Amino acid sequence: MTIWHPYTQMATAPAPIAVERAEGAWLHTADGRSILDAISSWWVILHGHCNPRIAAAIARQAAALDQVILAGFTHDPAERLARELVGMTPPGLEHVFFSDDGSTAVEVALKMACQYWQNRGEPGRTRFVSLEGSYHGDTIGAMSVSGVDVFRRVFAKLLFDVERVSNPCLADVLEPSRRPERQIACAEELDGLLARLRGQVAAVILEPMIQGAGGMIIWPREFLAGARAACDRHDVLLIADEVFTGFGRTGKLFACEHGPVTPDILCLSKAITGGVLPLAATLTTGRVYDAFLSEDRGRTFFHGHSFTGNPIACAAALESIALLRDGGMERVGEIEAIHRARLEALAGRADVLDASCLGLVARIELRPHSAGGYLDDIGPRLAREFLARDVLLRPLGNVVYVLPPLAMTDDELHRVHDVITDVFREIG
Ligand code: PLP
Repeated sequence: MTIWHPYTQMATAPAPIAVERAEGAWLHTADGRSILDAISSWWVILHGHCNPRIAAAIARQAAALDQVILAGFTHDPAERLARELVGMTPPGLEHVFFSDDGSTAVEVALKMACQYWQNRGEPGRTRFVSLEGSYHGDTIGAMSVSGVDVFRRVFAKLLFDVERVSNPCLADVLEPSRRPERQIACAEELDGLLARLRGQVAAVILEPMIQGAGGMIIWPREFLAGARAACDRHDVLLIADEVFTGFGRTGKLFACEHGPVTPDILCLSKAITGGVLPLAATLTTGRVYDAFLSEDRGRTFFHGHSFTGNPIACAAALESIALLRDGGMERVGEIEAIHRARLEALAGRADVLDASCLGLVARIELRPHSAGGYLDDIGPRLAREFLARDVLLRPLGNVVYVLPPLAMTDDELHRVHDVITDVFREIG
């Protein structure tokens, strides 16, 4: 028997580390080690591991109502969570479709956008536009709109065609002074593309402010408003994939607030439950929702997952949102300030191309050692060195990033940055 571990090169990977307990920012292993979780366990844990308030909310809900079909039935945790999400996300998003994880939130968004135009009598609008370097998940639709080649290339024949627009940040990571110019050029490119494909595009999908798996690429914030304006001008839906950036990660509750823009469709998952249970939500406007209101069964959105709106996951999400309101967002600001101070010292190194941060996310892009990008050899080598010092960091190729849970103390966060500095010094 073996577990098939995701994203693991099986022939060469060391034996997986058995974790028995977790608390705050710490993972405690079966063989007595304690490891600092500096990536929030694949970007999900928000407050900290085993938060007692979330654990108690889960236990209460599990004893009252564990699971119920959401087609034709409803329950209090889902109703309350939908109300909370509508209240906290950008104005205009009024309807909530629950699913299970980031990829399903994106699949729902893509299918919703496609059927919206069919229901409106424009069946030719089936194309999607996304950005270079984007990542939206590992299912077929989400992979199709993703722009990172390494995750897609084996499956290329299974994917649908997507139009891609230049990334507003990729090419100018070295020259901050050129960012405004580049950002305007990318918004113009998007505008030109939508003009050329008039009547064919269902939606533009993007990860607002930070492209996660593509290398934690931080955007110039002006691009968001430019993309929204281009979509408005050509009457195309805008899908914001905030699976990674939602719930405070970028310093605002939702990255769209940096625009500020309201997308037509918003995808949420990962931190929605505090990262404790799988849950996702795809929110949309009255305009989109109303196109599905009909006596005609053919206009029904035939999409649903077994665990849609699971009551226990909804209860965890409600408690997580309450925690975010009870001082969580202030902690995001404190963590960002520490990141900023520590990155200053790294920015001068000859092998560092970029050291920047936004909210909880700090990124350090190193000069490529081999292939560059996700497959650069330096990534696994650095990960091994960090782990040997009891810090969990998983560089994306030549990009080292830190994404701590809010429970990480100042001292622990300094320790993470110390370890990064030490390892750079030793292998540099
Ligand atoms: N969208 C974004 C922006 C992501 O970062 C991810 C995962 O990292 C996904 C979608 C897919 O989420 P999941 O892994 O939960 O399917």
